[in-house]
Amino acid sequence: MKKVYIETMGCQMNKSDTERMLGMLSHFDYEETQNPKEADLLMINTCSIRQLSENKAFSAVGAWGKHKKQSKKDIKIGFCGCVAQQKAREIFKRAPYVDFVLGTHKIYALPEILKRIQNGEKVCECEETNKTEDNKAKDYEINRVKGVNAWIPITEGCNNFCTYCIVPYTRGRERSRLPEIIIKEVKDALNAGFKEITLLGQNVDSYGKDFKDKNYRLAQLLTDLNALEGNFRIRFVTSYPTDITDELIETARDLDKVCEYFHIPMQSGSSRVLKAMNRRYDRETYAKIVEKIRKMVPDVTITSDFIAGFPGETEEEFEETLTAIDEFELDYSNVAAYSPREKTVAAKWTDKFIPEDIKDERFQRLNKKVQENCLKSNKKYVGRTMEVLVESFYNHKGKKVNTGKTRNFKTVHIPYDQDLTGQFVNVKITGTKTWYLKGEID
Ligand code: SF4
Repeated sequence: MKKVYIETMGCQMNKSDTERMLGMLSHFDYEETQNPKEADLLMINTCSIRQLSENKAFSAVGAWGKHKKQSKKDIKIGFCGCVAQQKAREIFKRAPYVDFVLGTHKIYALPEILKRIQNGEKVCECEETNKTEDNKAKDYEINRVKGVNAWIPITEGCNNFCTYCIVPYTRGRERSRLPEIIIKEVKDALNAGFKEITLLGQNVDSYGKDFKDKNYRLAQLLTDLNALEGNFRIRFVTSYPTDITDELIETARDLDKVCEYFHIPMQSGSSRVLKAMNRRYDRETYAKIVEKIRKMVPDVTITSDFIAGFPGETEEEFEETLTAIDEFELDYSNVAAYSPREKTVAAKWTDKFIPEDIKDERFQRLNKKVQENCLKSNKKYVGRTMEVLVESFYNHKGKKVNTGKTRNFKTVHIPYDQDLTGQFVNVKITGTKTWYLKGEID
């Protein structure tokens, strides 16, 4: 067997692509190694959401290039993922030791690429496609990282063109995967012992809009998955606020396996900034959606994403983001300082860029607000008994601890000697820290 090392950066979509690539490589006698020094094939699956991750990717392959030159001339190096899709052949100029560049649209070209690079050819496969690659996916199993939670993409790409976001340029236009393929992947994951299925997409709630021959949307997919046998949970991320329909909320509420959890990025609390971001809602519209979900789904957790220091954002507009987190009682939010990305509209507004020190200061204040609200949200559950799906077991300062998630996506730490990974347990919540609840087996 030959050995492959893949470094995966960025989001769950990239992790899912890596699992698919490992599945393909296993057909060509490659097994995964965690040690890059012993690999025959080194691959990096890159993320381009921020400049920092792009820089890290080039620095990692730079080190591999030195290793190739100095000690292992016959290793092959592959540059994959979002930066590859965006920069294509430019990668060869910046990193001449790279043997192939593989974009996000062409991951099923990997077997063919392996043959071509053996002859010394440099290969770049980055053409955009407007189709999913499901027909090719049928030929290869997925080498899923063993665990409790399986991430399954249901859409690829995005049509929204938010002015700060690189995704439509790296992942292309939105394409929905066929329901029968998704259902088969879910069945395979359940048969392999996974207990939680997370349906993944840039905008999962617009799933199926592009089907010309059928009316089949996310609510129907959830219904079909919920009907599968077994004790398991279903989640779906990420939701675009205005694509969430009443039918979807009702379906999520009524299906027993679908968890009480919505991730709905707001990005800014200011309606003016939202317009500049090309988001298709304002503060009031977002408020109404959150209010509706909270009324319809008891104990729901709603999480969000925010950007600090978007070009032109005033101090007052930034404060509207802080008040939004309070007002809409957002349970948790991912936050990031604005990072200009090549090709995007906002990256051209250099005259409106916020100085780094102010951006950083806003980022810190945003983080603090998220922490306060996370703690406040956690406190609601102290004293309650909740179902936890245990995801891991480890030693912490001499004590054995199980960690898992409630249905509404709260992390719970449970000191307990036995390894309960993969089990559903009822846990009495005894206390809380900022990011997690503490509990004991009920
Ligand atoms: S909705 Fe906007 S932020 Fe999300 S992936 Fe699409 S363009 Fe990017």
